[in-house]
Amino acid sequence: MIRRVAVLGAGTMGHGIAHAAIAAGCETRLFDVDHAALIRAQAAVGEILDKAVALGKLSSAEVASTVARLSTASRLETALADVDLVIEAAPERLDLKLRLFADIDRLAPATAIVATNTSALSITEIAATLTNPARAAGMHFFNPVHKMKLIEVVRGLETAEATLDALRGVAAAMGKEAVVVRESPGFITTRVNASIGNEAFYMLLEGVASAEDIDKALKLGLNHPMGPFELVDLVGLDTRLSILEYLHRTLGEKYRPCPLLVQYVKAGRLGRKVGRGVYEYPR
Ligand code: NAD
Repeated sequence: MIRRVAVLGAGTMGHGIAHAAIAAGCETRLFDVDHAALIRAQAAVGEILDKAVALGKLSSAEVASTVARLSTASRLETALADVDLVIEAAPERLDLKLRLFADIDRLAPATAIVATNTSALSITEIAATLTNPARAAGMHFFNPVHKMKLIEVVRGLETAEATLDALRGVAAAMGKEAVVVRESPGFITTRVNASIGNEAFYMLLEGVASAEDIDKALKLGLNHPMGPFELVDLVGLDTRLSILEYLHRTLGEKYRPCPLLVQYVKAGRLGRKVGRGVYEYPR
């Protein structure tokens, strides 16, 4: 039974995961190396809960008891003491995650399950840092966590069935749907999404249709909530390119990034974050 959770990294994903954990009834400690990130994360969790009250989904009393389950820790050993589950949501750098997992091995109870929210890195490689890699798996949440229903639970080479069962249980308690994926580049969602996005760029390059019409076609004809160009502008064209380069390296030719995407990145058209991507976003 998972009662106490530590979330490592209080950024975009970490605060959302901490919110999901307290909403699921778990005592949750949020840790970050940056004190300001902890303050921002607490405020962001508060905003999500306030919105739930405004929408009539939670009472003020429920918010008070939910918030009471969240605490922050500026020392890793404090965050990890007595936990049943650790969810790592630190930046997507292998060296950093390997160091954190080595610390978790030293400081967390040997029985705790350890999950990483990595988008693409190898769970098997990260888990190998633990004395017992059977207790590690991927737990891939989606942004924004409080709105997105899915969690990809990723099985590394040594992941135990009991670890997957426990994470499926946590996902259900968080009100999420889980799918179990064998470790492979891009899991399910990143791989399919990158393919669709790349195909859309090839169609634009070939002059099959305008960006607006390709987006419209996928939204109205295929029921996608966003068009592929609207989505890539949100994700960042540079981020999408690096994902495609990784898939191309690991899975082969069909993931070769479209030259038009490469050209947009070279031009600095990185998406909404810089005010222009496939579309323009005047400030
Ligand atoms: P982010 O940069 O918003 O947050 C990362 C946080 O980790 C920062 O607050 C940083 O101070 C903190 N940090 C740095 N070093 C740390 C350490 N040693 N210990 C603890 N905290 C540390 O990043 P993010 O977007 O939340 O991404 C976190 C992870 O989630 C990455 O692995 C990313 O690939 C994955 N992910 C991101 C998204 C997304 O849409 N942003 C979606 C799914 C998965």
